[in-house]
Amino acid sequence: MFGRMPTKKSNNTKYYESLGVQKNASQDELKKAYRKSAIKNHPDKGGDPEKFKEISHAYEVLSDPEKREIYDQYGEDALKEGMGGGGGGGHNPFDIFESLFSGGGGGGFGGGGSRRHRKKQGEDVIHTTKVSLEDLYNGSVKKLSLTRNILCSKCKGTGSKSGASGKCLGCQGNGMKISMRRIGPGMIQQVQQACNECQGTGEVISDRDRCLQCKGAKVTKEKKVIEINIEKGMQNGRKIIFEGQADEAPDTITGNVIFVLQLKEHPKFKRTGDDLFVEHSLSLTEALCGFQFCLTHLDGRQLLINQNPGEVIKPGQHKAIEDEGMPQYERSFMKGSLYIKFNIEFPNSNFFSPECCHKLEKILPPKPDQPTHMQIEECEETVLHDVNIEDEMKRRKYQKQQEAYDNEEDEESGGNPRVQCAQQ
Ligand SMILES: [Zn+2]
Ligand SMILES: [Zn+2]
Repeated sequence: MFGRMPTKKSNNTKYYESLGVQKNASQDELKKAYRKSAIKNHPDKGGDPEKFKEISHAYEVLSDPEKREIYDQYGEDALKEGMGGGGGGGHNPFDIFESLFSGGGGGGFGGGGSRRHRKKQGEDVIHTTKVSLEDLYNGSVKKLSLTRNILCSKCKGTGSKSGASGKCLGCQGNGMKISMRRIGPGMIQQVQQACNECQGTGEVISDRDRCLQCKGAKVTKEKKVIEINIEKGMQNGRKIIFEGQADEAPDTITGNVIFVLQLKEHPKFKRTGDDLFVEHSLSLTEALCGFQFCLTHLDGRQLLINQNPGEVIKPGQHKAIEDEGMPQYERSFMKGSLYIKFNIEFPNSNFFSPECCHKLEKILPPKPDQPTHMQIEECEETVLHDVNIEDEMKRRKYQKQQEAYDNEEDEESGGNPRVQCAQQ
């Protein structure tokens, strides 16, 4: 990698220039300069990897008194020979970076091969997306506008103009704060949480150095339109995942945006697996004498449903039509069944004249055996009243609730008479 560097013979100032320090810079100054520059150019924060390598190498040499002396006297080329390996040598720039920041709790910057593991996992963002049964039957595309955080393009997520930052006093640069939480009687849990003063980075940025674009927040808002492709046959509760589309944050593996499909209730059709259920009301005449009707399907097609005279449909009876259910997911040419439940609407009282009844009786199946005169004479007479049983049940339920409520009140008031209730 160093073979690609311009090798001006006897150049012994370039490393100082890379770090932006004087030739007589102290170790402390070198360290500060490198730190500042390395953060700014760190590839994890969107910096140029080549530049990062360059400054890391410069610091590696200059921080070593022996190497620095060789460099000062004989320049870059001498060092290459000294390191051997024909221009190879040098260390992984991330290791150098890591060695400088390790122990200081340096804001979660990773180094070397392990740096992927040191990144935090960003949170997933979960949205619920309402879909109609038509959407799931036909497939559809939904466009959604989302706002999310992205690393500030100006400071590459460092929050500062220079890339430098200082230790956060809130957490002593650890990025984490420990607090106590009561989780039960006599039980206390220690909870480690990201420091709120530095957002878990362990760093704070001075006012002067604050990035103007993100005001030091390291992230800015981005508005984005996401297209959700709803495929035929997807189920309610299905998750559609957009990887790495959640909020970006420094040193964080961006989480996913997850859309969970939530099926809106359909006024007509109900879905169970790949099958569809629909209810249809027939008149008594249709139920007894056959019928024809058109059913509008979820894709707008008209299905002709018909039943020949002679076959009787009973109240609550189901019939099935094959291959008119929901398409199967990823095999949409395969479809479930469409089940029709029939409700029968009976004619109202006095619809038939007594003469009609006699005619009907002759057509309909015979009545079961009726009681004889003898039997009738031994019976007591009764009267059948019309009732609306649903209303009656509701009234009863309300009565019970009221009683329970009154009893409670009695207990609370020490058994005093219910003056208010009595007045009403
Ligand atoms: Zn910024
Ligand atoms: Zn902090």
